[in-house]
Amino acid sequence: MSDKLYDKILEIALKRSILIPSAELYNAVSGFYDYGPIGVLIKKKIETVWKRMFIKMHGFHEIESATIYPEIVFRASGHAEHFADPIVTCKKCGMKWRADKLLEERVGGSYDGVSEDQLTRMIKDNNIKCPKCNGELTDVARFALMFKTTYGGESKNIAYLRPETAQGMFLDFQRIFATYGSRLPMGLGQVGKSYRNEISPRRILIRLREFTQMELEYFFNPEIDDIKEFEDVKDVVIPIMGKDNQNIENITVLQAIEKGYITNKIHGYFVVLTKQFYDMMGVKEYRFRQLNDSEKAHYAVGAVDLEVNTSFGWIEAVSLAHRGDYDLSSHSNLSKKNLSVFDDKVGKKVMPNVIEPSFGFDRLFWCVLESSYRPVTDEKKWEWFDLPMFISPYHAAVYPLVKKEPLVNTANDILRSLRGKGLDVIHRATGSIGRRYARADEIGVAYCITVDFDTQKDNTVTLRFRNDGRQVRVPINRLYEIITLFTDNDVRTLGGSKKVEEFPVVK
Ligand SMILES: [Zn+2]
Repeated sequence: MSDKLYDKILEIALKRSILIPSAELYNAVSGFYDYGPIGVLIKKKIETVWKRMFIKMHGFHEIESATIYPEIVFRASGHAEHFADPIVTCKKCGMKWRADKLLEERVGGSYDGVSEDQLTRMIKDNNIKCPKCNGELTDVARFALMFKTTYGGESKNIAYLRPETAQGMFLDFQRIFATYGSRLPMGLGQVGKSYRNEISPRRILIRLREFTQMELEYFFNPEIDDIKEFEDVKDVVIPIMGKDNQNIENITVLQAIEKGYITNKIHGYFVVLTKQFYDMMGVKEYRFRQLNDSEKAHYAVGAVDLEVNTSFGWIEAVSLAHRGDYDLSSHSNLSKKNLSVFDDKVGKKVMPNVIEPSFGFDRLFWCVLESSYRPVTDEKKWEWFDLPMFISPYHAAVYPLVKKEPLVNTANDILRSLRGKGLDVIHRATGSIGRRYARADEIGVAYCITVDFDTQKDNTVTLRFRNDGRQVRVPINRLYEIITLFTDNDVRTLGGSKKVEEFPVVK
C-alpha cells in the first residue's frame, strides 16, 4: 500500500467536502473533524447498516443517552481512576508526548499496562528525546483522558463528557429490562459521540478527541453463556492471533473458542457478526487479536480486537470485550440499588454479564475510504471511490443530456419524484456529460440517469452504472424499483448477493 495513500484520500475528502477540519477558520484544533454533506450521507448509511445488523435484526433496543454525566458515574465505571495516558513533557519546548507511543515508534513492541516507573526507565535507557526539538523529557506522569466540566454554575458539581457510550446502557438497563418483560438475554445499543482528551491526536480520523461510537451491550445470564445464532456461524473461518502467539491462524470461530482466544459462544457470535459487517463494508485486510492481560481494559474478562491494515499501519478498529458483571456490580455498589435480576430459566436472581462489540465509527469510515479508493487507470481517467452500493452517498445523479427544454423539465420531474420517495439524488445540467459522470464517480454515486431526446418519445432514460460504466435503457416509472434493488442494505444477504451481472437489462 502506498505511503501516500492517506494524502490522496485526504485531498479528495477535503476537495469534495467529505471531511472538514473543525473550526478551520481559526486554524482548526487537531483531533476534531466535521463531516461535510457527502461525509454525512455516507456516515448515516453506514450507521443504518450497523443498527440493522447489531440491533434490529436481533430485536434488541436502541437508546440515545446523555453525553455528560456527574462524576460519580465515572467513579463507578472505573474511568475516573483508570482512564489516563502515560505522558512525558519536553523540558525545553513544553510539548507533551505519549510515552508508550514514543517507545512503540522508536523501540517497537507494545507498552499497554506498563507502569510509569518502567516507562520512565525505558525512555532513559533508549535515550529518547523530544521528537520536535530533541530536548530532555520529564519522568512519565498520568494524564486524565476525560474532558471535565461543571453543571449548574456550581464548581463543586463536577461532570465529565462521556469517554464511551456504554455507560448509558448500564445506567438505563434496569428500567428498560422491566419495560420489556424482564427477560434475559437483552441487547441495548446506541450510536453517538464520545470524547477523549487525547494528548496527541493524529492520523486524521484515527485518533480524535471527539468521535462517534457504535456500541452494543448484550446482557446475559453467566450460567447460560450461549446464543442460538452461534450454531449458524460456528464453522465460519476467521483470521485470529492468540495472545501468546504472533502468527495469524485461519481457524473456525469454534476452534478459536476451544483454544481460549475467545471467551464463549456469545463472544464468538459477535466476532463473526463483526467480520461479516467489515466484509460488507468492503474492508479486506483485517485480523482479530486476543488482548493480553496488560492490554485489556480494567473491566474486561477477555477481549478481542479487530485490527485493520491501513496506510498508517495496523490500527484497532473494533473492540469485542467480555465485561463480566463489572459495570452493573459497580453501579449497584455506588448507587445502593441492586441491579441483579430474576432469571426464570434458572429460578433465581443473577447479576447479568455483558459482551460488548464496540465500534469506532471514524476509524471504520477511514478504512472504508482507503479500501474503496481507486486510482486513475486507462479506462477511468479519474480517481474514484468504489463504495459498496448501499453506502454510496447518492443513490443517483440526474442529468439532462444538454441544458435544453423539455429535457431539463423532465430531469427535474424525475429528481422530485425520487427525492420524494426518500432517495438521495443530485442533479446538474451544465458541463459535458463525460465530465459530469466523472464528478459523480469520484464521490461514489451509484447511478447516473440521463434524460435525452429519446426520452420524450418512449418515456425511457439511460441508467449508467458507476463501476463499469455500463448503460441500459430503463422506463422512468421503473427507476425507483431498479435503483433500490441495487442500493438497499438488506443485511440478511450480507450485501453480497446482488452482483452487477444481475443488472436487469431493460429493452
Ligand atoms: Zn521539545
